[in-house]
Parts: sequence; structure tokens; C-alpha cells
Amino acid sequence: MTQVPSDWPRPALPLRGSSALFPARRVFCVGRNYADHAREMGSDPEREPPFFFSKPQDALVPLGGDVPYPMATEALHHEVELVVALGLGGHHIPVDRAMDHVWGFAVGIDLTRRDLQTQAKNSGRPWDMSKGFDASAPIGALSPIAECGPMAEGAISMTVNGESRQTGRLEDMIWPVPDVIAFLSTLMVLQPGDLIYTGTPAGVGAVVEGDELRAEVEGLAPLVVTIVPGPVL
Ligand code: MN
Repeated sequence: MTQVPSDWPRPALPLRGSSALFPARRVFCVGRNYADHAREMGSDPEREPPFFFSKPQDALVPLGGDVPYPMATEALHHEVELVVALGLGGHHIPVDRAMDHVWGFAVGIDLTRRDLQTQAKNSGRPWDMSKGFDASAPIGALSPIAECGPMAEGAISMTVNGESRQTGRLEDMIWPVPDVIAFLSTLMVLQPGDLIYTGTPAGVGAVVEGDELRAEVEGLAPLVVTIVPGPVL
């Protein structure tokens, strides 16, 4: 093989009520941003600086749909999250200017190989293989902030096969969206197109093949995912 591979398509995210597409750039995620979820994961939810991890761009699954059960896990967990899409980059963004950098919002699911994450935590190893695997970042249709508002409050929920699993409120985030953007912008120069998954409320749990996941945030397009036999091809 001496030829370079042909170019690949960049993820483009559908918008709600429009045929335009949003060019996704990087995928950042906040850990333990709701106190009740921090407690269920065995952490102290006292206000400590937020921490971040990343998923590869092509982990995104625009509009959800069929998601293959991934390889190498027996504990695939759902985490419903509010996703922020940036329209304007920057670094050292002040909290009171952070919302000026937001293009819009979507519902996301931070799929997690919880067994691999537990092993990684116990051995002090990175989270990439437990968080950043293929198809680990389903994302619903994006709404512009002009339509959905700043998403500072509202219900966030996950049902599996119609049964309630996670319910929470956006206003219960330990670090609200402007704080998350401001803090992340002290670590990375943020860019237009960057996405930030902002953490999940309590009630995470395992899903299996055939399950239908419905993730909702009040005011945004719902995201529905069906877990089908894997792996991703
Ligand atoms: Mn998460």
C-alpha cells in the first residue's frame, strides 16, 4: 500500500428545521458536572475545578439512529447530556462573555464502556478507550441559541424502552455552561465548530442490543438511538 487513503467526510451536524449543516470540530466532555451523578460514581461533589476529556470527531453519530454495540465491553452505559456548539473561538474567555461564543445546543449521549473506565480509574490510566470509542457520541439536531435560548434551566432526561432512567435539571450543573466554556478556554484555544458535552445527571446504567434510548432536553429536538449488533464497520 503506497497510495495515501482517499479523504474522508467531516462530521456535519443537521440543524433543527433547516437543511443547513454545522461543521463539527473537536468533541470535549465535562466529567461529573451534576452532584447526584458524582455521588453515584463514588466522588465527592464539592465544587472542584471541572475536568475534561475528549472524543474523536468521528465518534459523532448525527441524529442518532442505529448505534452498534461496541467491541470490548460488557457494560455499555448511557449518559444524557446537553451539548454546546461553539460559533466563535477564543481563549481566556470571561464567564460573562462566554455565551457570546455559543452558536447553539443539542441533546447528546456520552456512551461509556463503564467496565473499561473502572479499570482505567483503578490503574490510573487514560479514559480514551472507555469514552472515545466508535459511535460513542450520538448527537441530535442543533438549535441556534437565537431559537432555544441560553439553556440555563430545564428538564434533562433519558428513557430506555420507555422506562425512565435519568431525570435532572440543567440548573443543577455544578459548573454552568458559561463557566465550562470559560474554564476550558484556559486549557485550549477554542475554535468555531467545537462541541462540549456538559455532563450527565444521576441514573446512568447499562444498555443491551435492541434497547431504544430516548434522550431529551426541554426545548431541544429529542435524540433517539437504537442499540444494534456490533461492531462498527
Ligand atoms: Mn459524560
